[in-house]
Amino acid sequence: MERTNRAYLRRIRYALQWLIFAMVLYSGYRFFVFVRELEQGLIPSVSRPPSIEGFMPIGAFMALKLWIAKNVFDPVHPAGLVIFIGALLLALLLKKSFCGWICPVGTLSEGVWKIGKRTLGRNFTLPVYIDYPLRSIKYLLMAFFVYVILVRMSPTAIEAFLNTPYWKVADIKLLRFFTNMSSTTMVTLIVLFVLSLLYKNFWCRYLCPYGALLGLLSYLSPFKIRRNETKCISCGACSRNCPSLLPVDKRRVIHSPECNGCLTCVSNCPAKGALDMGVTGRYRIRPEFFIVSVMVLFFSLILIARMTGNWHSGVSYDELRSLVPYIDRLSHP
Ligand code: SF4
Ligand code: SF4
Repeated sequence: MERTNRAYLRRIRYALQWLIFAMVLYSGYRFFVFVRELEQGLIPSVSRPPSIEGFMPIGAFMALKLWIAKNVFDPVHPAGLVIFIGALLLALLLKKSFCGWICPVGTLSEGVWKIGKRTLGRNFTLPVYIDYPLRSIKYLLMAFFVYVILVRMSPTAIEAFLNTPYWKVADIKLLRFFTNMSSTTMVTLIVLFVLSLLYKNFWCRYLCPYGALLGLLSYLSPFKIRRNETKCISCGACSRNCPSLLPVDKRRVIHSPECNGCLTCVSNCPAKGALDMGVTGRYRIRPEFFIVSVMVLFFSLILIARMTGNWHSGVSYDELRSLVPYIDRLSHP
């Protein structure tokens, strides 16, 4: 057997994930300052960071339908739509790599289970008869949103919603959800934190409807993790290290919607040529090429959006300042 050591792939991944996480955290801080100054009736000393709109995928899903049906690109939260399109395109082409490489919630979730593993010595797994029904929750939530947005809401109704004052301040409402946390929210977050310490990626595996949608789309991705049985030495390192608990050492191709394309299995495989990302058994791609493709595709979309004027919100700061005093009275129409 020819040996290989691709641990550097993990280091690249952690570096990219935490860099993106730090950027999102900084945007969150700037948005906090921006909103606080608006609430004080001041002219904000920092500009509003558009990337925080990535945390509103349900509205972005509606905006996507409106864009397709009426060719109207949501001027209120365009960055949210751009990020949503980026995540969908990644899933269609490059597995669920938005979750594995970019999503800050996924990065945080991974950080938490690793802390759990270090402090408790291990992570736990739920028995199959609990794991399967729990995993269906995220698909049920996803089906609900898909049904409401694609079937129940007409493009005209979506356009009306995206023009409401509620949608204009939806990002501020989301911020307040965390800064003015109710005791129910706090208890829910603590429970989620504890479960995430014990079980790998608890939120992503069982509850996230966004990930469920990306996972189903990723079935269509031509790239899959592929194992070459003639070179595999059956050491099991791939399965032991897969954060999605997939039986990589038992399959020739990983079709699962749970696969994040994180390449953790590839980076842990000691046998050269035994495990790779590839289109077919013959056409395997270098992992570096996969990583560069994920980053280039996602960030070039953002660049194009910036250059074409589809990144910054069209809502003026004056309008936001006039809405902020009434924000608690603005509810979902
Ligand atoms: S199969 Fe490999 S690429 Fe897919 S989630 Fe598991 S470790 Fe990541
Ligand atoms: S594919 Fe998995 S089981 Fe086979 S050699 Fe690589 S890590 Fe070991």
